Amino acid sequence: MAQVRCPYCHEYIDRAEFPAHEAAHRKARPDGQQTDYATLPDEDQEQGDLAGVPQVYVHRKCGVATGMPEEIIRSYLKNPYMYMADATFCCGCRKHVPFRDCEWTETGEDLQSYTDKLRAAKPEMKPKGCLGAIAFIGAGLSGVIAAAFC
Ligand SMILES: [Zn+2]
Ligand SMILES: [Zn+2]
Repeated sequence: MAQVRCPYCHEYIDRAEFPAHEAAHRKARPDGQQTDYATLPDEDQEQGDLAGVPQVYVHRKCGVATGMPEEIIRSYLKNPYMYMADATFCCGCRKHVPFRDCEWTETGEDLQSYTDKLRAAKPEMKPKGCLGAIAFIGAGLSGVIAAAFC
């Protein structure tokens, strides 16, 4: 039977069972975050030093800071098209908010401009047509980013 690699737990799942499997990962927790967020498998994540990479952002509407988990940072540095919803969790609002409304505390840059630059630097990673859509199953549909540190 055809299998897909789950972008949340990285197990191989029968394609027919994947929608239910994915729904369990995406179930909302009491704090408003998803149960799990899509990442790249460890071996595919960006390796090396994260010095100079911003990790804390402030939602401009509420002023609350949220920390970005390392496995998420290492995933989008490798593949900036991983989180196509362009939204991330705000600890203040307890919901996912647009990248454009958040800025890095380290640089003052909004997350949308930051992400657009990362994408422009890696056009070869851009998902194409049906194959891209399948590769980004899950990630493309939800594609929001987690915030582990409130
Ligand atoms: Zn899974
Ligand atoms: Zn907020």
